[in-house]
This record gives sequence, structure tokens and C-alpha cells, in this order.
Amino acid sequence: AKRAGGARVVRFAAEMRERAARRNDIELELRQALQNGQLFVVYQPVVALCADGGTDHSAGVEALVRWRHPVRGIVPPFEFIGVAEECGLICALGDFVLERACRDFVHWQGELGDLAPRLLAVNLSRAQLGQQDWAGTVARILAKTGMEAQRLQLEVTESLAAQDTDVQQRLHELKALGITLALDDFGTGYSSLASLHLLPVDTVKIDRSFVSQSETSHHHRVLIEATVKVAQSLGMSTVAEGIETAAQATVVRTLQCDKGQGYLYARPLPSEDLAAWLRRPGG
Ligand code: C2E
Ligand code: CA
Ligand code: CA
Ligand code: CA
Repeated sequence: AKRAGGARVVRFAAEMRERAARRNDIELELRQALQNGQLFVVYQPVVALCADGGTDHSAGVEALVRWRHPVRGIVPPFEFIGVAEECGLICALGDFVLERACRDFVHWQGELGDLAPRLLAVNLSRAQLGQQDWAGTVARILAKTGMEAQRLQLEVTESLAAQDTDVQQRLHELKALGITLALDDFGTGYSSLASLHLLPVDTVKIDRSFVSQSETSHHHRVLIEATVKVAQSLGMSTVAEGIETAAQATVVRTLQCDKGQGYLYARPLPSEDLAAWLRRPGG
């Protein structure tokens, strides 16, 4: 048993070395990717859920970053956002995504008129909020791109914000610009209800784990319903994340969620494909 344990330790150490090496590779390549234009932004529609059973129509989009790697193809964010946070690249990456997304949004407004999305949601990382005068950076990006502040919604997670009064101060500075805030992945943290009143958020995004179990689990439906009620009574709107089936859409609509997002409606799409999706007949 001792020898087997020793072998396991050796294997574990090898795995750790491999992971550290891979991490270094990613860091180096990510630096280059930012400079070489390998990062790009895709957009997933967020639809308004009509309680009367009418057609769900597009309300906005969420910007999600992608990396077109010359060898590995499209790399999903979970493989590099963590690394970017640890090595300090997340601020440059975050500014890139925000500016790119604002430019695309303003472009759709010109190109699509009434069909253009109403709201642009962009994900924020903790380190971005720690930057000196980040609200100033956001204001400059808005001015430079012609983006209207009230069309921009920044998404934060509760782990990022709930315990930290500095962060809360930063969030108030952002709100003073006229932008809105969403609390992302709601329900996955440890103090969810408390963060709702601590943070100046306008929208609560109910995590996909609740939505995906909503058909089969009474328990999860009850938690969604309670979240919606609390949000409503605090004057916040709600988005159900990760809707994959028509049955899930029916459940969250019945539970009075305002908006929904998920593969049922659309996958995250490159800018041109989003424009085509918005123009589709019957949309
Ligand atoms: P998130 O903010 O919770 O984004 C939603 C994720 O769920 C996206 O994954 C989206 O593609 C995926 N998704 C949407 N609908 C469905 C569905 O019906 N089923 C399933 N299974 N998944 C669905 P993605 O694009 O891989 O992003 C993962 C996470 O990476 C994001 O989670 C966010 O935390 C982070 N991220 C992405 N882009 C950025 C960014 O620009 N900045 C920062 N800081 N984080 C980002
Ligand atoms: Ca998000
Ligand atoms: Ca989320
Ligand atoms: Ca998530």
C-alpha cells in the first residue's frame, strides 16, 4: 500500500509539473495573442420571456471572449481566463473585450435599426475593478466608441464583490456613469441573498445549474421562484441562464423570469452571424 501511495505521489508531482508547464505556455502565448489579434468576441442573445406565451424576442446580448489559436483552434475561456487573472493580463484582455463589444454594438445600431440589441452585457473580473480609476477607463471607452452608458451592463460575480467594500465603492462609481450591473451565476455562492442588498445590482442572472434541473427537481424550481420574488421586491430584473429545452423555457417563464439565455435560442455567435440571427424571419 505504501509503494502504491508513493507511485501516486510521483504521478501527482508529474501532473503538477505538466500543469505548471502548460500554464506557462498559455501565459506566453496569451500575451502574443493579445498583440496579434487572435482574441475575438462572440455574442449570445438574451431574449425577453413573454409571460403571456407570445414570441420571445431579443432583448440584448452577452459578450464572450474567444481565442483563435494557430495550432489548437478555438480555445474556450475557462482555459485561459484563470491564467490571465493570475498573470495580470486580465486587465488588458478585459479592456479589449469591452472596447470591441462597444464598437460592434454601435455598429449594429447603425446597421440593424429596430432589430439591434437593446443591451450589451460584458463580464468583469476582480482585477479590473482593482485598477486605479477604472470607471475613468470605462468612460473613455464609451466616449471613444460612441456607446451609450445606459445600454451597457457589466456582469460581476458575488465572490468578486460581496466581501469587499473597495469593490463596492468601484461598483458605485460605475453606476454613476449610467451603466447597469448584473450579478452573474446567482445561487452558486455562499451568501447569495446578502450580496443582493450589499451590491448595487439591477439584474440577477440565475445560474445554469438551477435552470438545467428545473424540469426534474421541485427543489430547484422553488429556489428559482424565491430568487425571482426577492429580485422583484428589490426592483431587480432576472435572467435565467443556460436554457437548453423548450420545457425549461416554459418553467422559467411560468416562474416569472424576465429574460432567458441559452442554446435553445442561440449559441454565442460571431458579430456577422448575430446580425443574421437578429434578422431571421419571425425573430
Ligand atoms: P458566464 O459569464 O456564466 O457565461 C455563460 C457561459 O455559458 C458561456 O460559456 C456560454 O457559452 C455558456 N452557455 C450559454 N448558454 C448555454 C446553454 O444553454 N448550455 C450550456 N451548457 N452552456 C451555455 P463560455 O463562453 O465558455 O464562458 C465561460 C465563462 O468564462 C463565462 O461564464 C465567464 O465567467 C468567463 N468569460 C467569458 N468571456 C469573458 C470575458 O470577456 N471576461 C471575463 N472576465 N470572463 C469571461
Ligand atoms: Ca456572464
Ligand atoms: Ca453566468
Ligand atoms: Ca459561469
